[in-house]
Amino acid sequence: MKLLFSRCLMGIGNGLRRHSVAVQRAQWIVVLFYVVLLVTPALLPLPDNQARMLDNLTLLAQFVFWGIWWPFVLLSVVLFGRMWCGLLCPEGALSEWASQHGMGRGIPRWMRWAGWPTVGFLATTLYGQLISVYDYAQAALLILGGSTIAAMLVGFFYGRGKRVWCRYLCPVSGVFALLAKLAPMHYRVSEERWQANLPPHLPAPNCAPLLDIRRMRGASACHACGRCSGQRDAVRLIARSSNEEIVHLGEHGNLWEARLLLYGVIGLAMAAFQWTISPWFIALKQSMAEWLVAHDQLWPLQADAPWWVLTHYPQVNDAFTWLDGLSICLYLVLGALLLGGGIHLLLIAGSVLAGKPLAFARHLALCLVPTGAAGLFLGLSSTTVKLLRYEGLQLLWVNQARAVLIVAAGLWSLYLGWRVCTQLPWQSRQAPMLALLLSNTLLGYGWWLQFWGW
Ligand code: SF4
Repeated sequence: MKLLFSRCLMGIGNGLRRHSVAVQRAQWIVVLFYVVLLVTPALLPLPDNQARMLDNLTLLAQFVFWGIWWPFVLLSVVLFGRMWCGLLCPEGALSEWASQHGMGRGIPRWMRWAGWPTVGFLATTLYGQLISVYDYAQAALLILGGSTIAAMLVGFFYGRGKRVWCRYLCPVSGVFALLAKLAPMHYRVSEERWQANLPPHLPAPNCAPLLDIRRMRGASACHACGRCSGQRDAVRLIARSSNEEIVHLGEHGNLWEARLLLYGVIGLAMAAFQWTISPWFIALKQSMAEWLVAHDQLWPLQADAPWWVLTHYPQVNDAFTWLDGLSICLYLVLGALLLGGGIHLLLIAGSVLAGKPLAFARHLALCLVPTGAAGLFLGLSSTTVKLLRYEGLQLLWVNQARAVLIVAAGLWSLYLGWRVCTQLPWQSRQAPMLALLLSNTLLGYGWWLQFWGW
């Protein structure tokens, strides 16, 4: 059975390579679908209160983008690795196409900075909240369309037939790289076989994200496009344990990975999903409003910013004041710093008490990938649930499913921590495990507040 499954996976990998033309066609179909769903609703008037998903394209596109596309792309990365990036992503396909017809310049040094995916994720998440990207088609077109144009421009200027944008600059590539660590399959490279250079002698593959295939370890950076499958009989799509990459390769994790996970995927994302229902946000805004009124500064209470700076749709009574914008920025930044920073300190304390260097705290941080992934899925799927409830569906089982997911992700995270700590003497394991337990409890409490407490 196991052998059959392995052969099947290997066949899928090799099949993707053989049928690269069909894969390209599928990519262009996704590009078309993406452009229609992104552009058309932005040209239509805003839906009224009576509008429903099945008779209003704007609402349907909103549901498809935020209710299905994003949460399930994230889920697909956890299940299959970054096949989304390599096989279907419209932005990657357009960037590669532009690069095939572009100037082919070398990649500048500044672009290779490892912090861009983290900065990009933080900036787009914050900006998305300021202009209500989940709720308005114009805002979605600005952020997603802007990102696509940037990807094409980078492709046009740099690389030749490559995905320079995806490798160095895409705001979600860092998140996908983290989530892919959990995938139960990946393209494994045998360096010995590679060096032996056994037949079949296939032409050198075009690895669009510019990976050194021979030295590739794990699924994080690989876009799982299959173009190198079978190369030198050394590259195979195989099944693996979902824990393998974090437990065995996590010690080589870099600082930006840990920062993105703790401050972005966990801290900023939770604050972004919660601020609309948070009593702490209201208290923060109220105290600032009182201060402004007491000091006779009334201009921040005006809602006169354009829609591309702050949400501005007075026709449906939705317009942010400058104070709203400032409060959102403060709440999100404080949320990222307090939650991400608090967990970071806990993990550092756990490592130091165990007598390990700071790199061990980064390894421990990666054990929180399941909790972070579950948080992103819960946050994005709450838009799915909200939109389906507008349509009249009750979905009474949703909160139980959320509780199961939160508990399961926490237990998975603790199991990963346990496996990582097996390298320590028995008595040194308690501090890091306690740090992980407290971190997961803190996150569980945050989600409890969002779905039950508030
Ligand atoms: S290593 Fe490169 S070519 Fe091979 S599957 Fe991954 S992204 Fe594709």
